[in-house]
Amino acid sequence: MKTAAEVKARNPTRAVRIGSITIGAGHPIAIQSMCATKTADVEATAAQVNHLTAAGAAVVRLAVDSSREARALPDIRQRTRANLSVDLQENYRLAAEIAPWVDKIRYNPGHLYHHEPGKAWQEKVRYLVEVAVRHDIALRVGVNCGSVDPAVRAKFEAHDTIGPMLASALEHCELLDRLGFTRYCVSLKDSDPAKVIEVNQRFAAARPDVPLHLGVTEAGMPPWGVQKSRAALGELLRRGIGDTLRVSLTVPNARKVEEIEAGRQLLEDVAEGRFSGDAEFRLPRLNIISCPSCSRVENEAFVELAEQVHRMTRPWADYPITIAVMGCRVNGPGETDDADLGLWCGPNFVNLKRGSQTLGAYRYSEILPRLQAELEALIREKGLMPAS
Ligand code: SF4
Repeated sequence: MKTAAEVKARNPTRAVRIGSITIGAGHPIAIQSMCATKTADVEATAAQVNHLTAAGAAVVRLAVDSSREARALPDIRQRTRANLSVDLQENYRLAAEIAPWVDKIRYNPGHLYHHEPGKAWQEKVRYLVEVAVRHDIALRVGVNCGSVDPAVRAKFEAHDTIGPMLASALEHCELLDRLGFTRYCVSLKDSDPAKVIEVNQRFAAARPDVPLHLGVTEAGMPPWGVQKSRAALGELLRRGIGDTLRVSLTVPNARKVEEIEAGRQLLEDVAEGRFSGDAEFRLPRLNIISCPSCSRVENEAFVELAEQVHRMTRPWADYPITIAVMGCRVNGPGETDDADLGLWCGPNFVNLKRGSQTLGAYRYSEILPRLQAELEALIREKGLMPAS
């Protein structure tokens, strides 16, 4: 697909090949999406990969957390010609099992310290680079607001959330460059569109040569999830920043193609001058952030729960409150810490939090009235008022 966005002044990022496509200045801005099927379910995952690719996804991401899931990759590879990227979690050594079957691996600097804690992160990155070179694949350094490397975070004031993300990304770029590996891109994701703009702008100013993958993490459900992504990504694209993007949405599996459609619409609107940053920022004061779900989701009821939370909170739409709804224990506990109220899903129970404090675990059938009671108590105790 060729859009006028490609001919606007882009940062002079270098070319990075991901399977059959190349990202970077002079190349089309690639739209990505991610499967939410169980990765070990080969047929369902291959079907979703092909569905997303047919809808226009240039790269499709999968989550792989275990050797069992990695063993599904050869069969998935056989069933698709899509450009595949894998999201690596704590066990960085899984990269060697994954790399022969995919085109890119995304690692999170904030997850490298869990596994083999005595080993320096630099050694782990060196290992990932060796694997990437051996198998002729690209890497993405994926920094996320909810899981920044604690050693980097400790160097900054608690209120500064942008500084640690930026520092973490830059130190990984420096190491990759020192290792002579340039086939990588970077992403810096936050759930707040304004922070996504700021951190990516600052990164692009420091490293205009490194391709950026853009996204708002936990943007939530349409239409607000689309609007948050448009607010951040549209503004960055308009400034010539961004080489690939994902509009991540909390939607059922069958509707995942909406991520591609929203990404394509955004590129066209920016290119045609139809994008209005100010209008895109007019969001309800009650902010619901919810993850797009992926193969790690612990109960398929998660998307329905997120929808129910949206419906239940409508009477409080004008109150300045953030509620986070997350699909699993991998990112749920950490990424609900900064919300006023947080839910993260287990297989049978939903964990309820107020800030970083856990209030208890409740059955799916019990959680909504419990959340509502906590919401009302929060408004009362803080004396919150709706927007006039
Ligand atoms: S919170 Fe869990 S289920 Fe949701 S996208 Fe993140 S890893 Fe996947």
